[in-house]
Amino acid sequence: MSKSPEEEHPQKVFGWAARDPSGHLSPFKFSRRANGDDDISMKILFCGMCHTDLHFIKNDFGFTDYPIVPGHEVVGEVTVVGSKVNKFKVGDKVGVGCLVGSCQTCDLCKSDLENYCAGGIQTYGGSLNWDGTKTYGGYSNMLVVHQRYVVRMPENLPLDGAAPLLCAGITVYSPMKYFGLSQPGTHIGVVGLGGLGHVAVKFAKAMGMKVTVISTSPSKEKEAIERLGADSFLVSRNQEQMLAAMGTLDGIIDTVSAVHPLQPLILLLKPNGKLIVVGATEKPFELPIFPLLIGRKLVAGSAIGGIKETQEMIDFAGQHGITADIEVISMDYVNTALERLHKADVKYRFVIDVANTLKPNL
Ligand code: NAP
Ligand code: ZN
Repeated sequence: MSKSPEEEHPQKVFGWAARDPSGHLSPFKFSRRANGDDDISMKILFCGMCHTDLHFIKNDFGFTDYPIVPGHEVVGEVTVVGSKVNKFKVGDKVGVGCLVGSCQTCDLCKSDLENYCAGGIQTYGGSLNWDGTKTYGGYSNMLVVHQRYVVRMPENLPLDGAAPLLCAGITVYSPMKYFGLSQPGTHIGVVGLGGLGHVAVKFAKAMGMKVTVISTSPSKEKEAIERLGADSFLVSRNQEQMLAAMGTLDGIIDTVSAVHPLQPLILLLKPNGKLIVVGATEKPFELPIFPLLIGRKLVAGSAIGGIKETQEMIDFAGQHGITADIEVISMDYVNTALERLHKADVKYRFVIDVANTLKPNL
């Protein structure tokens, strides 16, 4: 018989978990492996709440293996280093995103694209650790991670505001770089002004690009322009506005968390324009072909980024003072926060103050 989550490893850990698709989170005891030679252990200080947490908690994708401890925007302080750890020392401020393992031998791992490794191990949500046990995420007091999957946090950024960059930040930064949408003067659209979208605007502006936000929420216009620095704002349901902007964008980063029509977005692109979908929706999109053919346009996807690029992104954020706009919450507020996230009622990321509000239940 397999051991309970509390007994399978030597280190006792506590956190909050969902047990079923009702998505209700409550205190949960489990365990983590002993710190290995290549591992660091970290005390978790803050953890961002990504919409992917909500998708998994609610079993939107159909493969959630309960109980699930979410959280993949994790920052904290190194408490233990293994004998082979050369990247970090005790006391360092570090971050862990969506990935805590990969095969380390395939071509993708060798070229710093471990995020696309077929043997990638997610911080939580479906994948198994190297030892075959389940991974549990950052809504918990501590984490044990192989040093390869850990990044160093810039000293000048507040850790709570920087936590969301570990998923939201790299998810928008990586496709901007890969698809050639990071040059000064490039005009990009950002669809969906949520956790991912608002940091996409900040990165794009720091790269010297022109940014148009495309949103379902007219109430976000003033803030998008005045505070986030977007150059223009389109309400996606306003046909007049959308028609007037046809053929103006070099690329689009689409961060919407639900199925939505792609044709109006494709029409916003210039010839050779690229629509990069990063929102994770459980149902397929309808893909109109003629608007793609006419103008040789491209629709592509992208998932987070490799660890080397994640470090590059967070260093760029440090240089440009980029953090997420956050609402810091206590652990016992997470269920309310999830309901509000579902209604897009957050500007723009909830971050859990884990160290000060997660009560031990050992
Ligand atoms: P979020 O904070 O909830 O933001 C999503 C935004 O999408 C909302 O604020 C809203 O913006 C817009 N939106 C929501 N429902 C919509 C609908 N039915 N139609 C049109 N627009 C809608 O979510 P997030 O944390 O940024 O995550 C966004 C998506 O990216 C999620 O699906 C998440 O799972 C996925 N994700 C993917 C990756 C990856 O590696 N590819 C990584 C992280 C997250 P407006 O009010 O401006 O319209
Ligand atoms: Zn995420």
